[in-house]
Formats: sequence, structure tokens, C-alpha cells
Amino acid sequence: MKDSYDVLVVGGGPGGAVAAKTAADEGLSVLLIEKRPAIGVPVRCAERIGKDSLTEFIEADPRFISAETSSATLIGPDGTEITLESQADCILNRKVFDRELIWKAAEAGAEIQVHTRAAEPIMEGDKICGAVIEQHGKRSFVRAKVVIAADGIESGFAGQAGINTTVPLDEIETCAQYIVNDINIDETENRFHISFADAPGGYLWVFPKGNRCANIGIGIRGSSSGEGQRARDCLDRFIEKNYPEGKITELIAGAVSVCRPLSETAADGLLIVGDAARLSDPLTGCGIYNAMFSGKLAAQTAVSAVKNGDTSKKALTAYDKAWRESTMGKDLACSYAVKEALLRMNDETLTAVFHSMQNCKIEHISVQNLVRAILKENPQFAKELPPA
Ligand SMILES: Cc1cc2nc3c(=O)[nH]c(=O)nc-3n(C[C@H](O)[C@H](O)[C@H](O)COP(=O)(O)OP(=O)(O)OC[C@H]3O[C@@H](n4cnc5c(N)ncnc54)[C@H](O)[C@@H]3O)c2cc1C
Repeated sequence: MKDSYDVLVVGGGPGGAVAAKTAADEGLSVLLIEKRPAIGVPVRCAERIGKDSLTEFIEADPRFISAETSSATLIGPDGTEITLESQADCILNRKVFDRELIWKAAEAGAEIQVHTRAAEPIMEGDKICGAVIEQHGKRSFVRAKVVIAADGIESGFAGQAGINTTVPLDEIETCAQYIVNDINIDETENRFHISFADAPGGYLWVFPKGNRCANIGIGIRGSSSGEGQRARDCLDRFIEKNYPEGKITELIAGAVSVCRPLSETAADGLLIVGDAARLSDPLTGCGIYNAMFSGKLAAQTAVSAVKNGDTSKKALTAYDKAWRESTMGKDLACSYAVKEALLRMNDETLTAVFHSMQNCKIEHISVQNLVRAILKENPQFAKELPPA
């Protein structure tokens, strides 16, 4: 490890890996550090991504795809089902996928150091000039022209650099998920159970992983969690009722932010991407694509800034502007408005919405398509929901 690079990437998830590859591809010297001893573990993810979104970044490869699904079914509080066909999704094996992304970054020339933590930013006035690194119990200084904070939901780096990264408790979903084996499921269908009695302020999912196995999980609003009503309690009840024969081989717990993105994602010498920038979708909790998309955009901005010799906030703000104006940025704003509208409903209203939509044809499970279908059958929500 040298003591100075063009770009220092903090975090080895999808956002950091794509950022490191993009900057290294352009000939910049790049160091990526990951605090865990191994990339991709423990997995804290249900591993679903649209096939088109995946292939925007990497060729689909059975080594890191556990299953491919072709439909999605939404199940309302009383069991009413709405099926959306033509939804090509991949259920990844993130243990392999995250490593593959890191390998691509290394192949492009980025240096990777695992078990290496960014303890705090090096600051000169308001400018971020690198990070104090902890590796094997030793501290050292690594300077960089641009630091890309890709340190995920637990992100501390941007906060230490003076950016407000607080997420209100109400806007954190606490999650629990089991890998459940030996169950009878349609291996081509993702299932989303939407009932606030079963999953307060969130939803339950069943994503097949092939060979009678699935990721079955839940996200609930942090402020709804309590004795007997924690995410895992709700999940246990759901499994007992729906998949009593299932054999559980893994439990994961995690959190997803469902707030608006950070109000600023660029500072002097700093760019913030993925979950660290609160870019996971507030309605679905999905963030793999958004992390990769923002990671790439941030690295492209860093490349121009380094080549132009100007890594000031003014120059780096091009990244902030670009993602807000992108389809991803617009989708995030739409999802946030829909999530807020859903949270104002109760199970009775949700059931009525499900009933009204039973005969709707929705080709693709985008938030906009859902809003369009809801509004067509329920014009009374026109004031509640964003225009689709
Ligand atoms: C239960 C659950 C289910 C989910 N399901 C889905 C899903 O089905 N589809 C989907 O798209 N998204 C899903 N998500 C969200 C998805 O996992 C994240 O949005 C995605 O991983 C974000 O990528 P990232 O690169 O921004 O952050 P991460 O993948 O979290 O990577 C951040 C990395 O930074 C490292 N790090 C942190 N601090 C430091 C430091 N100081 N120094 C060095 N390294 C550091 C961490 O160890 C971590 O490896 C789910 C999340 C949860 C919790």
C-alpha cells in the first residue's frame, strides 16, 4: 500500500467496486479498502436485481446468479394476488457476485486491501485529503485527491467529514431473512406480501434461489419494532404459517434506509455513493443497482476532476447534479412519495386497492407502472400519489 493515490474508495460493496473499476479503467491510481476480512460476507441482502439492471454493469453469469425469475406476485392483506408477468429478475449469489465485481476492479488496476478500515478522514480545513487507515492494528495515513465513500448503510466516513447523514428511526427498516430449504415454491416467481398486520410499515418477500430453496425475509419500520414484534418475530410467524416444512440454514439481520437521499453527496475532495448516500429505493429497499450506478457516475466525475486538477466541491457537484437528474434520481423521488402515501393507508384500504386492481394488466413492476394502475382504478388517490 502506498501513501498516496488519485482515488481512495472506502468500502468493497457493489458501489465501491464499480467506482474503483471505473476510475482504474481511466488510468487513475486507485486504492479500495474493505474493513471486513472477506468481500461479500456476511450477505445482508435478498439478492434480487432486474436482469436489465444487472447486465448494464456485468455480463450475466450462472456463477453468481442463483435463479432467474419471470414473474412477480403482490399479495394483499386478505390474500388477493396481483401477478405481473414479463418481470425478468435475477436472484444473485452475492457472496460470489461481490467478489466478481472486486475482481473486475483489481483486473482494471485498482489495488484492493481487505481487513482495512478507514478510521477517519484526513481534513485540511473543509477539504478531505484522504483517510487515516487501520490495518492489522496499525494506523497509517493515505492521501487521495478524491475519496469515494461507499461504506454502506452504517457509513461513518461522510458524517466524520461534516456531512449530515442522520436517518430518522421512522425511516429505517429493520430486516430479518432466512434461507429456507425444502419448500414447495414456484421457482420462477418472486412473491411480495403486503400487509401491515404482518409486516408493519414494510413487506415480506419470497425470492427463489433454485432447488426448492428461497430467501424469505421481512423489513419493518424501525419505530414499529418492539417486544414480540421485532422483524424476526414477524418473520417466524410468517414462516410457521406459510412454510412450516421449511428447513432454515441461515439467518441474516440488517437495515435499509427508506429516507430521501442525502441533501448533498459531494464535498471538497469527497463523493458519497450507494447506501452511504441513502440511495436505496425507499419503497422496495433495493439498492444494488443504485449503488453500482452512483459508483460509476462518481468515479467518472472523479476522473474528470483529477485530470482537470480541480477536486473542489464545485467541480465534484457535477456528480450530485447528474444522479439527481438521472432516471434513478427521479425514481427515488417517486418511490419516496409512494411510500409515504402507502404508510398513510391501513390494511382495509390496501385490501380495497388490491381488489380494484385484480383485472389490471401491469407488464413490468416499475413504481410508475404500479402508480398508473392504482390511479386508473382509484382516482381518489390522485392527491396522495405522485403523477406517473
Ligand atoms: C435484508 C436486506 C435485503 C436486501 N435486499 C435487496 C435486494 O433484494 N435487492 C437490492 O437491490 N438491494 C437489497 N438490499 C440493499 C442492498 O444490499 C444494498 O443497497 C447494497 O448492498 C448497497 O451497496 P453499497 O456498495 O452501497 O454498500 P454495501 O454493499 O453495504 O457495502 C459497503 C461496504 O463498506 C464496508 N465498510 C463500511 N465502513 C467501512 C470503513 N470505515 N472502512 C472500510 N470499509 C468499510 C462494509 O463492510 C461493506 O462491505 C437489501 C438490504 C438488506 C439489509
